[in-house]
Amino acid sequence: MSILSWIEDQRKIKMLNYNKATKDDRLWTRCDKCGTILYIKHLKENQRVCFSCGYHLQMNSRERIQSLVDYGSWQPLNETLSPCDPLVFKDQKIYKERLKEAQERTGLQDAILTGTGLIDGIPVALGVMDFNFMGGSMGSVVGEKIVRLVEYATQEGLILILICASGGARMQEGIFSLMQMAKISSALKFYQSSANLLYISLLTSPTTGGVTASFAMLGDLIFAEPNALIGFAGRRVIEQTLQEKLPENFQTSEYLLDHGLLDLIIPRSFLKQALSETISFYKEAPFRKNGEILAGFSNSLNLLTEEKVRRLLKTEISLNSSKKISNLQEKMKAKLPLYDIKYYNKILFSQNT
Ligand SMILES: [Zn+2]
Repeated sequence: MSILSWIEDQRKIKMLNYNKATKDDRLWTRCDKCGTILYIKHLKENQRVCFSCGYHLQMNSRERIQSLVDYGSWQPLNETLSPCDPLVFKDQKIYKERLKEAQERTGLQDAILTGTGLIDGIPVALGVMDFNFMGGSMGSVVGEKIVRLVEYATQEGLILILICASGGARMQEGIFSLMQMAKISSALKFYQSSANLLYISLLTSPTTGGVTASFAMLGDLIFAEPNALIGFAGRRVIEQTLQEKLPENFQTSEYLLDHGLLDLIIPRSFLKQALSETISFYKEAPFRKNGEILAGFSNSLNLLTEEKVRRLLKTEISLNSSKKISNLQEKMKAKLPLYDIKYYNKILFSQNT
């Protein structure tokens, strides 16, 4: 190891510890790319885009939902699903402790929020991953929440949007994390091929590992944010395996767009408008065929389902009482496939308990 790389490592370790020691109530932060010092309040107002270089900093799931979904229309699904520790995993820390710490720090149960909402008045099923929760890693709960969202969207004929930000499958849950890739892919296959509905996947920095290898790349339309890191294996691993020097912009969204892996790169400030235009265009498409789902009836986003969701939201929310909103959530939950999470965990983890 050269002295320079040692100094660089020490700097990184210092940075990591610095981030751990400070909480979310910091006033200032630093741009990851150009190093400009930014006032967090203004940065949030600018959707966490650097004022100096335009770099898109990490956005958490709540901010993302707030910036995309029409005010007051967000209805979360499966909020109470929370992870357990099937393998009794331990590395430098016990997995259960890691989970508890992440839950307390982020206020989330796991690394994704799913639900329904309106984008410029059009109902969508939306899933937003959160990189702040254990690197956005995909464990059994993330997988299950996505599958339930996809199934709900299939049933109700909703457009599906998944916003990815993940380091990949969660190693602490081993094979249970890996099986989520196949589980989500098969739910999506049904959604896309049988129900004939539109799935848009939005890749944000970073989208890597098992998430890239499954639902992130299965979108009918794949969008990405500018300069996002998107890949499967890390750059160093590939360089060492191939014994080749990779180009400077390798695994950035611009590079992937050039090589045909993405459909569009959208800056954050235009994202809502772009999504809204895309889904209105899709809705109006004259030769769109309705799909068939197994229950035997055809299903698709049509004016009827749209109006149904809109009225449900309108009648309940206009009264603006929390009791009514929780009633609505109960109604939404009642429509979901009849899983009971305890029962589900019992089947899934019966080998280990
Ligand atoms: Zn910057």
